[in-house]
Amino acid sequence: MKYEAEVKSEPMVRYRGIAKSFGSLQVLNEIDLDIAPGEKVAVIGPSGSGKTTLGRMLVTLEKPTAGTIEVNGEQLWHKTVNGQLVLADDKHLHKVRGHVGMVFQQFNLFPHMSILKNVMEAPVHVLGIAKQEAKEQAAAMLDKVGLGQKLDNYPRQLSGGQQQRVAIARALVMRPKVMVFDEVTSALDPEMVGEVLAVLKEIAEEGNMTMLLITHEMAFASEVADRVIFMDGKIIEQGPPEQLFGNPQNPRTITFLSRFR
Ligand code: ADP
Repeated sequence: MKYEAEVKSEPMVRYRGIAKSFGSLQVLNEIDLDIAPGEKVAVIGPSGSGKTTLGRMLVTLEKPTAGTIEVNGEQLWHKTVNGQLVLADDKHLHKVRGHVGMVFQQFNLFPHMSILKNVMEAPVHVLGIAKQEAKEQAAAMLDKVGLGQKLDNYPRQLSGGQQQRVAIARALVMRPKVMVFDEVTSALDPEMVGEVLAVLKEIAEEGNMTMLLITHEMAFASEVADRVIFMDGKIIEQGPPEQLFGNPQNPRTITFLSRFR
């Protein structure tokens, strides 16, 4: 997908006037961001620049201090009643929350469950899917991330890269419209980074998943993203990867990127 397409279609994700503070610390400010259906957006920026907070708000793990967020045309933190925005109740939040999946730096698998059980857990207990069906879907998803031979293994029997692939399968099996990947390779030994990025690339190449990729892997962002956003508390600069990496305009972007050369 090309960058121009983002402006034309109805966005899948829409941040409007988002600000976020933790106590007196303002972390995000003036965030307006539209992400088109199927668009892959990479978010880069210094540590502490609010990237994770941006992603966590999309799965309702953080609440914005100001502004609104829509996913698939539905308000996340509010809902519209008689044309007015009112605070969302738990039922509404639960429903829209289901549109978005997130994978974290730490895989957070259930240690006492086989990886098949790990991936079946939410479809059975959150979506209410019958066990047999959930089992088939989970096995298919684990196969997709290259772990079809390990269904009965426990997380501790797997490498970090394999565990992270289980975490990806566990998020994907919920069939979210949008996926947030938050530095999913940062906790991995270097030799395992490639296998996880390969899985992400495969998901990206299927095309229809809308993806927000928070990453320090510039080569990966360049290869996979339709658009790269450089942020530092706010969006400083954005554009297609060849533009942002090849010809950055803002001095802060230039300084940041020079560290990766
Ligand atoms: P990044 O992902 O770019 O490293 P984060 O979104 O994780 O940035 O954090 C942005 C800033 O917000 C940091 O200064 C961090 O310490 C602070 N922060 C994040 N979460 C919390 C929290 N729950 N309470 C207080 N401060 C937080």
